[in-house]
Amino acid sequence: MLNKEYNIDKNIQYGLSSEQASERLKQFGENVLAEKKKNKPIVIFLGQFRDVMTLILLVSTVISVFLEEYTDAVTIILIVLLNAILGFVQEYKAEKTLEALTALTSPTAKCYRDKKLSVIPAKELVPDDVIFLEAGDKVPADAVLISASGLFADESVLTGESVPVEKCVCKGEILNNATGQAEVVYSGSIITRGNGIAKVIATGMNTQTGMISGMLSEAVESQTPLQIRLGKLLALICIIICFIVAVTGIFKGEEIFTMLLTGISIAIAAIPEGLPAAVTIALALAVSRMMKQKALVKRLHSVETLGCVSVICSDKTGTITENKMTVTKIYTNSNIYDIFGKGYKIAGEIKLGRKSINPKSEKTLEEFFACSVICNNGEIRTENDISTRERGKISSDGEWHTEGDPTETALLVAAAKGGITKEKLSSKYRRVKEIPFESETRIMTVFAKLPTNETIAFTKGALDAVLQKCSHILTDGGEIPLTKKQKDEILSVNDDFSNSALRVLAFAKKRSANVAEIDGGMVFLGLAGMIDPPREEAKKAIRLCKKAGIKTVMITGDHPKTALAIAKQAGIAGFIEKNEAITGVELAKLSDDELSARIENISVFARVSPADKLRIVRAFRSKGHIVAMTGDGVNDAPAVKEADIGISMGKTGTDVTKEAADIILLDDNFAIIVGAVKNGRAIYMNIRKFVRYLLSCNIGEVITMFFGIIGGLPLVLIPTQILLVNLVTDGLPAIALGIEPAEDNVMEHKPRAKEESFFSGGLMGKIFFRGIMIGICTLGCFSFFLHAGVTLEEARTASLFTLVMSQLLHVFECKSEEKNIFTVNFKNNPKLILAVLFSAAIIFASMYFPPLAGVFSNAPLTLKELAIAFGFSAVMPLAGAIFGMITHSGKKE
Ligand code: ATP
Repeated sequence: MLNKEYNIDKNIQYGLSSEQASERLKQFGENVLAEKKKNKPIVIFLGQFRDVMTLILLVSTVISVFLEEYTDAVTIILIVLLNAILGFVQEYKAEKTLEALTALTSPTAKCYRDKKLSVIPAKELVPDDVIFLEAGDKVPADAVLISASGLFADESVLTGESVPVEKCVCKGEILNNATGQAEVVYSGSIITRGNGIAKVIATGMNTQTGMISGMLSEAVESQTPLQIRLGKLLALICIIICFIVAVTGIFKGEEIFTMLLTGISIAIAAIPEGLPAAVTIALALAVSRMMKQKALVKRLHSVETLGCVSVICSDKTGTITENKMTVTKIYTNSNIYDIFGKGYKIAGEIKLGRKSINPKSEKTLEEFFACSVICNNGEIRTENDISTRERGKISSDGEWHTEGDPTETALLVAAAKGGITKEKLSSKYRRVKEIPFESETRIMTVFAKLPTNETIAFTKGALDAVLQKCSHILTDGGEIPLTKKQKDEILSVNDDFSNSALRVLAFAKKRSANVAEIDGGMVFLGLAGMIDPPREEAKKAIRLCKKAGIKTVMITGDHPKTALAIAKQAGIAGFIEKNEAITGVELAKLSDDELSARIENISVFARVSPADKLRIVRAFRSKGHIVAMTGDGVNDAPAVKEADIGISMGKTGTDVTKEAADIILLDDNFAIIVGAVKNGRAIYMNIRKFVRYLLSCNIGEVITMFFGIIGGLPLVLIPTQILLVNLVTDGLPAIALGIEPAEDNVMEHKPRAKEESFFSGGLMGKIFFRGIMIGICTLGCFSFFLHAGVTLEEARTASLFTLVMSQLLHVFECKSEEKNIFTVNFKNNPKLILAVLFSAAIIFASMYFPPLAGVFSNAPLTLKELAIAFGFSAVMPLAGAIFGMITHSGKKE
């Protein structure tokens, strides 16, 4: 793709050397706008103490010091510190992941360095660098144009004016980057059409955008709506309950200070203050997991939306298909030639029926190939043509090394099979001008000069676009007027090719001196049909989508018949009778309401232009769908932005589309989109899992304390014990639940509705029921031991053990919303087992390691007592499993 030299006057000395560039980089600094200040680790750590409850607790410890309760004071401080460290580690990790994410999505520039065009990070650009710009690029620095062909830029970021302005080459000297100059392209503006080469004159804060403000630094959002919603509600409920506990205790005659400390401890234990960080971590980990699967998620909250996707609109070429094209048929002069030799293999043959053909002996075929090679920006090279350094990078299994658009390289390979190459034609044709291919026109034209100084226009493109420009056809007998019969033949061959899933291109030429003259009077040369089979993994992914209640829609600029044939091969479309395919022309005739009415039955949109994509997204959304839409070209950006999940191609995507997108595919493959949706669903389930776990545990703790007080019992747990429970159960096990692998059935149910409550499907009921039961069991254990006549310390230790064990057992129940403790898959998340063992070890240490036992006022339990206390915590999971089995078998009957 980077072989753009043809547009430049070879005599211009362009580009800096790497040495010059690094010197200038030192002098001018990086090409970045002033950065947002990063959170320093110490700030993150101190942030852990920002919480009002923690502050009150710290104040209370100071009071305990005055009351000479030293052990309590030290313990509380230690626990608060440990909690803060845990919180810090989580938040720091989340911050780092977000930073890495921002770095990955940072812009690049196509820059001539050491006389070669390469893609470099935009921040490395320096004044005097020479850059290449084309449609879809975001201009990386202020630069003066050295060459330009049909270059238009959208400068709305600077001027607010959304109509793109035409840019032109600078003839004289430009001394500054003042706004409004047609010869200067400005950083942050977007190239909407054409291409050009420009010399950088200002970078970083010296650019016009830099001077205006740092308005373009788009931050990655770190809080999702889910986090905000959950955090606020829960905090409120907990504070109210703790207040009640403290006040009731005081009325019951407990010591005011103890009750104050108890209230605060319960508040700390009950408020899932780790929840926002845990959600961020879970999302951030999901993002890095998806990154490994080649989907770069730019915004954290998109992970949440991904799980709701109900329609995926995907481009065909390269996403659903392999984008490895091979020309298999050529039609010229009423002959259909077969091209043999798979893919980019050098060995190949051209046959007419059984006869091997040398194109040089067939005038029409030779002319056809000349057109396909000259009107072509691709490059193919054999091993002999490339340097030893590059050779190491490519496969040496007898394939051409190709660079550029696969449609074009496929044509070069086909011609090369007949011995016709760019080099061989270079003595005859000198390329002088190009009208680039655009999805809207579906046509590309190149003007070339013959040694006689005559100019020939070579055109290739979609048949409908090319044929309407043709008045003649090339035959054995030379150029003759195109008759209706010949036109019908061409159309029928096109239908045959398309029906067999071939992508068809038409070719024409005209002896012509200028651009205006190629609108008509061209000579038709022939058709090429190329295969581009659906990717195997895309077929599988489409099947998975069907199971998951997600509709797959193919959107393509290709011919409707080709599109439908590929859609059938890929498993998207079923029957043509159902009107599953529609073309851009038909689409234009439908009003928005009519389109909405039909849209759910349409699976293939063919010959559509990027502007249609926006209508398609809107129509699906009007039906309540959550839409994912792919795009690459500059004109795809509005649709990508409008979609709930905008997806940009990493390889072919332009800067603008990448910026508009929520996700960038590093490998343009449909299966990756579906993988991301699966991850999105799984992560949502995981968040539900740990929210369920944290809330039911916290409710259990609050119930224990609350009803203990109300029921006239002594304090079931003392403040330090409550804090200990909070430390061992809230932290690691919850995080480990957040990284659960996807459950097997995650793609077996319909997408969740976006407005669906987080606690839907009876989750709230489950949480409360289980929370209440944890409380009842702990209280049961406490009363049992008190009645058995043990000391208060022993009874508290036993309840502490019951409470913690109930929670550690419950964490396994939370692994699944359908399975119980016996049927759940224990093995798929070893980190959860480790987290639980670690927490259990701390509790045992707090009971049997004398210094710690002293600190927490724990009395070592005998084996029998331990077994009884454990019995109280195991009652519920057992009952749950039995209940589950009964209701399950009941359902079956
Ligand atoms: P999508 O990627 O959206 O699935 P597509 O790649 O098939 O679609 P376009 O790239 O817009 O769609 O191509 C539309 C038509 O334009 C093709 O069917 C082909 O006839 C023609 N075409 C494609 N590439 C070129 C090219 N490089 N030069 C000339 N014509 C082309």
